[in-house]
Amino acid sequence: MAVLCLSAYTRKQKMTSVRRLYVLLCGFEILPKTISTRGLGSHLILSEPVCAYLLDTDQGWTLLDAGMNPDYLATPENREKYFGQHGMTCPVIRKPHLMETQLEQIGITFEDISHVIISHLHFDHCGYLGRLKHAKISIQQCEHAFAFSDEAGVAYFRSDYDMPELDWDLRSGDWEAVPGLSLISTRGHTQGHQSAIVQLPNHGTVILPFDVGDLAENFEHEILPGESCDDEASLAAIRRIKSIRDSTDGEIFLFHDPVAIQAMRLAPAFYD
Ligand SMILES: [Zn+2]
Repeated sequence: MAVLCLSAYTRKQKMTSVRRLYVLLCGFEILPKTISTRGLGSHLILSEPVCAYLLDTDQGWTLLDAGMNPDYLATPENREKYFGQHGMTCPVIRKPHLMETQLEQIGITFEDISHVIISHLHFDHCGYLGRLKHAKISIQQCEHAFAFSDEAGVAYFRSDYDMPELDWDLRSGDWEAVPGLSLISTRGHTQGHQSAIVQLPNHGTVILPFDVGDLAENFEHEILPGESCDDEASLAAIRRIKSIRDSTDGEIFLFHDPVAIQAMRLAPAFYD
């Protein structure tokens, strides 16, 4: 009996090709809380982390979202152009937040990353695509189309992703990248937002909702994000993430929550 149990457990272990998940902390955004929680906390300014996730898989290194581009903060002119003139406070990016710094600590370079998966094309999710022209970049087709349209709002920095050399892989709906890494459509915050479900060998299921809900309270109290292209879809996305968490006994890793980030294992430490 003990042997049977052990073999079942071993089989379960082999169901994923993901070996490790690294949480990269890429800097902080300074924003009114209402950006994260619709209509709640208009007098509060939060310092929210921006993350990216790096997966070590049997098929190579995969990056989920691509941080913020530090070049936008490099000169006073850039700070004004990208943030000041839109009434936005500049993000904070220190040396430990730079992606190259973190990759070096892990022992790889940008060239080792063969696959990039983008939740959506807001500037805090795709800042390093210019360093990843050799990689396949997967995104939902409708997010890609919207980001290149005239309707894209101020959070879309076209210079982050409008490069002819980028190797786009356009997807529609739910899909599997490799065994143990699934992407699900969570349209609502933007036209083609997608989220990730990662199966880790020991830690179990990790759900990465990106901007479906920035803060824990978005999920606890089903509070819509500040920006949404479709409120009904945004609420459905929040509920979909919760239902996956409950059915898999999984853990949600929040992308923008200033409290949750303090308890997370940050790269070069990892989850396996
Ligand atoms: Zn974001």
